[in-house]
Amino acid sequence: MSAQIDDTHDRNRRSWVESANRPGCDFPIQNLPLGAFVPPRETRARIGIAIGDSILDGSAWLPDETLNGYFALPATQRADLRRDFVKALEAGAPARDLFAQADCAMRLPAAVGDYTDFYASIHHATNVGKLFRPDNPLLPNYKHVPIAYHGRASSLVVSGTAVRRPHGQLGEGKFGPTCELDYEMEVGLFVGPGNALGDPIPVRDARAHLAGVCLVNDWSARDVQRWEYQPLGPFLAKNFATSVSPWVVTAEALAPFWTNAAPHDVPVLPYLQEPGAGALDIAVEVWLKTGTMPAPIRLSRAAFRDMYWTPGQMIAHHTSNGCALVPGDMIASGTMSGPEKENRGCLLELTAKGADPVRLPTGETRTFLEDGDEVILTGYCERAGFARIGFGQCRGTISAAR
Ligand code: MN
Repeated sequence: MSAQIDDTHDRNRRSWVESANRPGCDFPIQNLPLGAFVPPRETRARIGIAIGDSILDGSAWLPDETLNGYFALPATQRADLRRDFVKALEAGAPARDLFAQADCAMRLPAAVGDYTDFYASIHHATNVGKLFRPDNPLLPNYKHVPIAYHGRASSLVVSGTAVRRPHGQLGEGKFGPTCELDYEMEVGLFVGPGNALGDPIPVRDARAHLAGVCLVNDWSARDVQRWEYQPLGPFLAKNFATSVSPWVVTAEALAPFWTNAAPHDVPVLPYLQEPGAGALDIAVEVWLKTGTMPAPIRLSRAAFRDMYWTPGQMIAHHTSNGCALVPGDMIASGTMSGPEKENRGCLLELTAKGADPVRLPTGETRTFLEDGDEVILTGYCERAGFARIGFGQCRGTISAAR
């Protein structure tokens, strides 16, 4: 069973940390996401709990430098920890020492062993397919099999890490810095205890294996991708950097935000038939700030609930051959897009392969990213009767090729 709605989600709960009670705050007491932070003048990371603009030191509960140990806990213990954190931070509890988020460095929340990137948005698959195959945008397997590739964990970087423009093969006889650097707006899923090699996770249980969620920017070099991707799929066009937001919103905090998935018009095989509300309602936005802009502007927004394949279906499919998922593995959703132009989750789609450049308020245009451009992902969950919870930010600035 996935995490349940309980009194920790009560919207009337307040914290003694005043910044957590401000409307629009990403980290109210109903959220309590976890991350790995390094206090000022220290070098070792500790587990922290984000509350308002501060961090509660979580090392008394979780004495590790990453969240891998947390993800390995049974769901009942994760729920107990959430109750402890609420008790420590709710209004009326004795004040404790906190760290200012602005004073701390963040590390990757987990030592990610394996990173898989799905292709779960039918809107993205259709939009991209149209650019290359106008008559036949969606490949015939799309509605039957969740498509993914195995990514590279060694180039996952935490939000704020500069992203150097990579070199690559850009076609026959051409090697140099990519001219078509793009972002991909995605959601990252962290699994809980996982499964033993050989033991598939049945789809009816799969949602309960989700332990936490973050934001992911899967930077992509489109010219490299176009030249290399057939027949085996993405390789060096993707594995130069993938940015991850530092705060993991727990499955327990997300309990109120499950909703029905978009209906399928083609029946799926029984092992993918998921009962109940399988989609998570998370709004994700992508913002861009060029070197000359005083403030970022929003390029697009999309809803995670619009994905064709749900988190449970991704987990069930991934393990259906017996493949083991282990604590700290990250499953990314694939680029999130929706039905409208404003929902397109990467520049390739948004500019129709460069044919329709994005016009910025400074008079600049973009078909792909330029050096100095900063891309910022944000995300949040909202539902009537519940407190809004946010994901913080996943940021990255492009630096010039070496
Ligand atoms: Mn991707």
